[in-house]
Amino acid sequence: MDPRLLTYAERPAPRYTSYPPAPHFSGAIGPSTTAAWLAEIAADATLSLYLHVPYCRQLCWYCGCNTFAARREEPVREFVDAVLHEVDLVSEALSGQSVVEIHWGGGTPNILSASQFAAIATRLANRFDLTALRHHAIELDPRHIVPDNVRAYVAAGVSRASLGVQDMNQTVQQAIGRVQPFETVRDAVTTLKAEGIDEISMDLMYGLPHQTVTAVEQTVQLAAEMKPNRIALFGYAHVPWVKKRQRLIPEASLPNASERFAQAEAARAALEARGYVAIGLDHFALPSDELAIAANTDQLTRSFQGYVLKSASALVGLGPSAISTLPQGYTQNDADPGAWRRAVASGALATVRGHALSRDDRLRRKLVEQIMCDFVGDLGPLGGVRACVDELDALSPMIADGMVRIVDDHIVLSAAARPFCRLVAMAFDTYAQRGAARHSSAV
Ligand code: SF4
Repeated sequence: MDPRLLTYAERPAPRYTSYPPAPHFSGAIGPSTTAAWLAEIAADATLSLYLHVPYCRQLCWYCGCNTFAARREEPVREFVDAVLHEVDLVSEALSGQSVVEIHWGGGTPNILSASQFAAIATRLANRFDLTALRHHAIELDPRHIVPDNVRAYVAAGVSRASLGVQDMNQTVQQAIGRVQPFETVRDAVTTLKAEGIDEISMDLMYGLPHQTVTAVEQTVQLAAEMKPNRIALFGYAHVPWVKKRQRLIPEASLPNASERFAQAEAARAALEARGYVAIGLDHFALPSDELAIAANTDQLTRSFQGYVLKSASALVGLGPSAISTLPQGYTQNDADPGAWRRAVASGALATVRGHALSRDDRLRRKLVEQIMCDFVGDLGPLGGVRACVDELDALSPMIADGMVRIVDDHIVLSAAARPFCRLVAMAFDTYAQRGAARHSSAV
């Protein structure tokens, strides 16, 4: 690997699913702010709902999500009761806005029984206007797909399922605490399609313990055989200081920066050879998929789910740790399921932190989104090149290397710079300079 690229690949950077990134949210934002912000949303605005199910049957060692192991049914039952109550509270704080998108994430949403899922879906339908609902998606663990549950998803209007796959190699699977043979994934896809869920997304990973370029290429080949419409290819973020479960993965088993980069490039080439179009930093889609079309029509944006279509004016999060992106700023629920439940039971929203967006935040958020989605950023709203001296100074090594060019108050990333777009975005991140958070490496 080119030593200059290696330097970039090793540098830590936020993932920029929000700006500022969530580690910079503060406790100054609480339930009363969220209630006021929800009440201020225009009646003709559109909403996206994100519902976070915080439990899994067992925890995968690599996982960076906010999730807990539920070996008994009781925590899941308590979650369902509380989220029904939270749906009531949040809908009462709003003023009948139309919901255009629902996403069930986690955790493992398919830990819910068919009747539990249906109870929540029914409450959403009773409390929100879903007549303009365009996208309804759910994240599923392929090891726990039950036809009865899938029928409940279809009855509620779910049309897209996102499957966690990561890697098909058995050695890698054992090293990440998630053994899931290819046949399990294939059977899951067959069941989903037989019941009427045709839009399939898959999450794959590189940078996992004992992973090799060959293992990554074989995984891509097997995944592509099932013809998912979308594939997300994430780099494993080893942050054991944040996620203690990752201590089960010895550092010595992890590929180094050069190997990670080679795996990411091999996966990208294998996906493109099979007809997938690259979208942003780490997503791929068949050319006919809405996401691929959105990428060509300036309709792509970043959310906590990664690259998504621009569809709603506000994202409202439900469940422990869920983040809302409201016109005024970000709010986040308590990540502890017990504390979240107690807050909701008391009749209050469960916000514990957030961030009110300043004018400068909004300008930089737009620029970060352009860099992450389009690889071109317009410096005009920030005052142009002359007003961005410090930022361009931070980027000077990449400019000197020909990775980034300045063209008429725009920064333009070369093809070689695209895997490092997080670093380019970071040059414009005033919070990154404050050094409060530790991040994973850029590739
Ligand atoms: S990867 Fe998925 S199934 Fe595994 S612990 Fe994380 S959320 Fe649960």
